[in-house]
Amino acid sequence: MMDLAERQMQFLFALRSRGVTDSRVLGAMEKVDRGPFVRGLFSERAYEDTPLPISCGQTISQPSIVGLMTQALNVSPRDKVLEVGTGSGYQAAILSRLARRVYTVERYDRLVREAQAIFERLDITNITTMVGDGSHGLPEQAPFDRILVTAAAEDPPGPLLAQLKIGGIMVVPVGQSDTVQSLIRVRKTEDGLDYDELCPVRFVPLLEGLGKE
Ligand code: SAM
Repeated sequence: MMDLAERQMQFLFALRSRGVTDSRVLGAMEKVDRGPFVRGLFSERAYEDTPLPISCGQTISQPSIVGLMTQALNVSPRDKVLEVGTGSGYQAAILSRLARRVYTVERYDRLVREAQAIFERLDITNITTMVGDGSHGLPEQAPFDRILVTAAAEDPPGPLLAQLKIGGIMVVPVGQSDTVQSLIRVRKTEDGLDYDELCPVRFVPLLEGLGKE
């Protein structure tokens, strides 16, 4: 049986071997224990590089994908970041170590309450959680330096592009929900939007409206 330190070493090794090489991202992922974000039956598997079920029929993403998305976002310590799709809160907790402030929006009230309770327990004070349909963004807090969408859209949502600062970066999985999607990075410049395709991914869909739990 491996102890916690060994499991965490293996966890970081898996991240590096799958292309997460940015030392700030690896540092943040080393400090944010995935354990508290995975509950019940699956808590034993928190250090595996695999997505796992959470409440409301949703998933906590695969750690190496969390690392690659965070790396692609290139967050600076002064950044204001919007995350769409709080889920377990794990991704937001990692962003909170790299950014000045993180706003995270989730359509299930129950997931927001559970994530909020973990942030409080871990003494994380720079995350603002909101219940809502994140595909509209958060106009009252815009513009954002960085936007991370953790559910798959058919196209990068227009309101989110509009709420990105010039010089800002958005990372979003794009494609139909039942097929392999592409992780897209959008950079907003004075001249328009530059897109690049990073890797194939598989995410739950970005849905309209609020969830019923
Ligand atoms: N970032 C999460 C984490 O660290 O655990 C994983 C997110 S999970 C793959 C996708 C989440 O997006 C789900 O919790 C789902 O309810 C949420 N979601 C889907 N459509 C949404 C929308 N329009 N607005 C806000 N959240 C949405």
